[in-house]
This record gives sequence, structure tokens and C-alpha cells, in this order.
Amino acid sequence: MSRFQGKVVLVTGGGSGQGAETCRLFAAEGADVAVADWNADAARAVADEIGARAIAVDVSREAEVKQMIAAAAQPAGRLDILVNNAGVGYSESGRFRMASVVDTPEEAWDAILAINLKGVAMGCKHVLPIMAAQGGGAIVNIASINALVAMPGADAYTASKGGIVALTRVLARDWAPKGIRVNCICPGGVDTPMIAGVVEQLAAENRELHPIPLGRIAQPAEIARMTLALASEDASYVTGVILPVDGGATAQ
Ligand code: ADP
Repeated sequence: MSRFQGKVVLVTGGGSGQGAETCRLFAAEGADVAVADWNADAARAVADEIGARAIAVDVSREAEVKQMIAAAAQPAGRLDILVNNAGVGYSESGRFRMASVVDTPEEAWDAILAINLKGVAMGCKHVLPIMAAQGGGAIVNIASINALVAMPGADAYTASKGGIVALTRVLARDWAPKGIRVNCICPGGVDTPMIAGVVEQLAAENRELHPIPLGRIAQPAEIARMTLALASEDASYVTGVILPVDGGATAQ
């Protein structure tokens, strides 16, 4: 299949996990891919593997996002698909701790919202005029099933992902007349570094509250394949959709 021959694709958070897998699948189907990540080495490694371009970016900073979009669009003079996948979760070992609202320090709240939600908004802000000028495009935002059902103890993360869902709907409505489709994927548990950092007690609580009918968490490619589907012409009549890819967890 080469659904993306001649298409320019930018994936944020493309340096690891499902973002990296998304880059691989787009490249395998002929896309000209730009891999963006704040981990420049990780972005470079994925880009080298698939013959793509690497862009270092912190999506929480508008100036960097603006440069990222310009750099991705510059060689071909167009940018057909943006996947807003960069995000931070809630690892005990990482910069942010999974916490209820009463235990979340103000800096963590600001940082998680800035990366997960403002990062998506800024990506859209700078790509939409380009897509409108070229006559269309597709944006896929990666949220989480946290946006749809209550998961214990990740309040800032949940709020950021809920914001992505709401933002997707308004952008889909506002930009449809310009031929731009905006959709959102809500992954459940995915076998990536992010989930590996989730403390076992909370992971067990989540499994109990929201059992997965398919009986297992997702492989990154299972999320990435749905991202490609929404970005492709197969979804030419689909916009504003919030699609859980969760093994049935939110069907309960
Ligand atoms: P998942 O694959 O489940 O989404 P990961 O933690 O594996 O989770 O991937 C998230 C990606 O987003 C990582 O590659 C990480 O470096 C990237 N990322 C996180 N924060 C930012 C940021 N502020 N700017 C750019 N990339 C980021």
C-alpha cells in the first residue's frame, strides 16, 4: 500500500513508543515524514531508520512549534498531515508524578497542560493556515481514554486529554469548509515507555475499574494503524470523530 505517496507528514513525539511506530508506518506507505521530539537523539534515530527528517522541538513553546511547522513544510512547500502525539504522562520516575488534584503542584499542572494541551493547540494554530492555503489537510490528535472515563489519580493528565477532545471538535467544525479534517484518537493502555512508568498499584486499580474485553493492552502499531486510517483518504468523510482504540475498555 502507498496511501501516502507524495504526502508530507509531521508527527510530534515521534521519537518513541506509538509516535515512532506511527512514523514507521507512514514512511512504509510512501510519506515524506518529519519526526519531531524534544528528545533530539530519539527523533534522529527514528528518522535515520526510516529515511525521514528529524526536528527537535519542545511543543510547549509556541516559537519552537512555529519553527517546527515551517521546517516540516519548507522542502515541499506543503504539509498534508499533522499528528499531535507528543505528551507527558505520569511516571513515578519521570518529571511528573501521577497525582490527584490535591497533590499536584502548580508547576506540574502548568507543565502538563502546556505540553499536552497547549502543544496541540499551537501545532494546529500554525499548520491550519498552511493547510487552508493548499486546499486541505488532516490533523490527528492523540488524547486518551482518560478523556472519556474516569481513571484514578491522574487529574492534570486527564484534564489535558479532555481538552484535546473538546478542541478537536471545535477545530473540526471551524475548518471543515477549508477541506481540513480534524480527528482524535483515545488510546487505552499501550505497551510503551509511558505505561511502563505507571505505578503498579494504579495500573491494577485501572484494570479493575475498566477491564479490557480484548484481554490485553495495545501494541503501538495498533494505535498507529488507526492514526493512519484517520489521516488517509479512507476517512475522507470523517471529521470531528473521537475514536477510542482501547480493546473495548470504554464499551462497558
Ligand atoms: P506514548 O508513546 O505512549 O505516547 P511516550 O512517552 O513513549 O508515550 O511518547 C511520548 C513522546 O513525546 C516521547 O518521545 C517524548 O519525548 C515526547 N515528548 C514529551 N514531551 C514533549 C515536548 N514537550 N515536546 C516534544 N516532544 C515531547
